[in-house]
Amino acid sequence: MREANTMAEGQAEGPAGGSSRTSAGATGGLGPEGTPRVALVTGANRGIGLACAERLLAEGYRVALGHRDTPPPARAVEGSEGRAMAVRLDVTDPEQVEAAFASVEGAWGPVEVLVANAGITRDTLLLRMGEEDWQQVLDTDLTGVYRVARRALGPMVRARRGRLVLISSVVAHVGSPGQANYAAAKAGLVGFARSLAREVGSRGITVNVVAPGVVTTDMLAAAGEARGAQLTAMVPLGRAASPAEVAGAVSFLCSPDASYVTGAVLPVDGGLAMGL
Ligand code: NDP
Repeated sequence: MREANTMAEGQAEGPAGGSSRTSAGATGGLGPEGTPRVALVTGANRGIGLACAERLLAEGYRVALGHRDTPPPARAVEGSEGRAMAVRLDVTDPEQVEAAFASVEGAWGPVEVLVANAGITRDTLLLRMGEEDWQQVLDTDLTGVYRVARRALGPMVRARRGRLVLISSVVAHVGSPGQANYAAAKAGLVGFARSLAREVGSRGITVNVVAPGVVTTDMLAAAGEARGAQLTAMVPLGRAASPAEVAGAVSFLCSPDASYVTGAVLPVDGGLAMGL
């Protein structure tokens, strides 16, 4: 289904690529030839994924906003000058993964930056956690990242450049009652990323992890007000993060300033997991 908003799904970018008209000093979106780099963000219709997409757009990237049934809001492309496209991309569906990448490649060329952000929770104590709760979370939060990373890497290896940023969580380090499935998946991302970093480092590709703490999105709201307050009270900075604050860390890892950073886990947690 095509989007109802103004995004150019599956179409090439608008004239001039727009990178010269982005915010002052924002050059991370420009490739070596001065053309906009191509980024794909999964789960980009809301929350942290949308904030990452908006940040990369502001920096001049071409950004494919991956989404399931609900498309990204039209405002995500205002001023993007054709550098945004929505692509249907359920990370649990290998065919959609292939189709989404093929669509982006057909319009803009290979994906140079992948932000693997899509994630779900199915919280319950382990004694009540059925196979379905376990499988759904692992299939989305860990295997879904395997699917998109594997698909992204081939062209990156051929191009001898690329950036993978995987969105994990503070719970990968500290655990969380009722989230054994989620913590296992998010911890798995760290070993996955570090293995990939070793596999593809010699090809000029970096693989890093961002580990957010408490972030004001629908996911946090779903945990309940009491749990959100409890978590926030444990944060040394004394507040939750905005999605834009996570996007800032993602942007750094995609930028030339992070050219020598790989296999890193960057906490964006207000100090919550400090020292772990
Ligand atoms: P939200 O629940 O607000 O958004 C989750 C996003 O993932 C949505 O866009 C959702 O799409 C998408 N998604 C879920 N399943 C799939 C799928 N199978 N295929 C494609 N997209 C999918 O969560 P956040 O923005 O808070 O979370 C983003 C990431 O950050 C997640 O990986 C999460 O684990 C992580 N994180 C969040 C923290 C927080 O406090 N909020 C803390 C630490 C980590 P749809 O709209 O269709 O459901």
